[in-house]
Amino acid sequence: ALSIGIVGLPNVGKSTLFNALTKGDALAANYPFATIEPNVGVVGLPDTRLGRLAELYDSQKIIPAPVSFVDIAGLVRGASKGQGRGNAFLANIRDASAICQVVRAFSDPNVVHVDGKVSPRDDIETINTELILADLQTIDKALPRLEKEAKVRKERAGVAAAAKAAGAVLNEGNTLYAARFDVSELGELHLLTAKPFLYVFNVDEAGLSDEAFLDELRALVAPAEAIFLDAKIESELTDLDEEEALELLASIGQPEPGLHQLIRVGFRTLGLQTYLTAGPKEARAWTVPIGATAPEAAGVIHSDFQRGFIKAEVVSFDDLMTAGSMNAAKAAGKVRIEGKDYIMQDGDVVEFRFNV
Ligand code: GDP
Repeated sequence: ALSIGIVGLPNVGKSTLFNALTKGDALAANYPFATIEPNVGVVGLPDTRLGRLAELYDSQKIIPAPVSFVDIAGLVRGASKGQGRGNAFLANIRDASAICQVVRAFSDPNVVHVDGKVSPRDDIETINTELILADLQTIDKALPRLEKEAKVRKERAGVAAAAKAAGAVLNEGNTLYAARFDVSELGELHLLTAKPFLYVFNVDEAGLSDEAFLDELRALVAPAEAIFLDAKIESELTDLDEEEALELLASIGQPEPGLHQLIRVGFRTLGLQTYLTAGPKEARAWTVPIGATAPEAAGVIHSDFQRGFIKAEVVSFDDLMTAGSMNAAKAAGKVRIEGKDYIMQDGDVVEFRFNV
């Protein structure tokens, strides 16, 4: 499964955040949480639609889409040259499909900053510089070979040219993701900065309600998405029951845990979406890449469903809720019969028909 790698300088709140993520929370009582390895956690994608579907179908269970996070420690200045956990760190990050950068934006004299001052801009630059340097090393190492190949095989010319162009972007201090660089030819190089990025700013309570401050931080990382949360409060939330958790959130002016936002944005950043199924047994979200066809979506449930795909009965979640039941939705003409070319939409409620 695709995973989101959590990186950041030491002491910015990565572990606090990761532990809060994998501990589960009262506001997602039905969601399974699991820690697979000490640094890998799978959490349920918060989705209020599932609870409503389960009510409609009197489902026994709710099964949300799983989202994997990996806590990747060891990013320090010089990591690309092997400092700290250098190479192990780079290998871990290579395995992740998206990079979630945690950035310290809280002030607390009791928590030492590795560079002696809290500066989100400098911290982001430090981290991105390490990732950029690692990519430049990869390209410098591969380029002589790619250029040789380009001379003897025409179809390799594009790869060599793309690698060179990517090197130029990196040399200017830009990540390939932020530069929106087309890396479709460069998959074989597994470049780190080509992965989609998202940023979590670990802010304190005062920061959370300071819109101008948040806008400044947002501007630092655009077009990547920014999430603002207080890791300390998030970890406190996991110890509370539902009522207390809601009270604490209300007291800091937040409609939901920041972690829920993080999971949702992370999921979207991976290029994923969900469709839904429901019955008396379970109401469930299934993960598909954005752009997946109906047979591909069926294949996520079982490969036989894909092989024997006949058609899909599809109704949007909103139409189903407005109608009040599947039969009412059918009567209202809201349930569509879709064939093998149908592109799935987020929140489609689906029943597949297939041959066995
Ligand atoms: P990591 O090195 O990035 O994994 O950072 P940790 O999660 O271990 O946190 C480092 C220190 O900062 C710990 O003492 C945490 O309790 C503290 N810390 C983490 N998040 C916050 C926060 O949001 N506010 C404050 N004041 N302290 C925090």
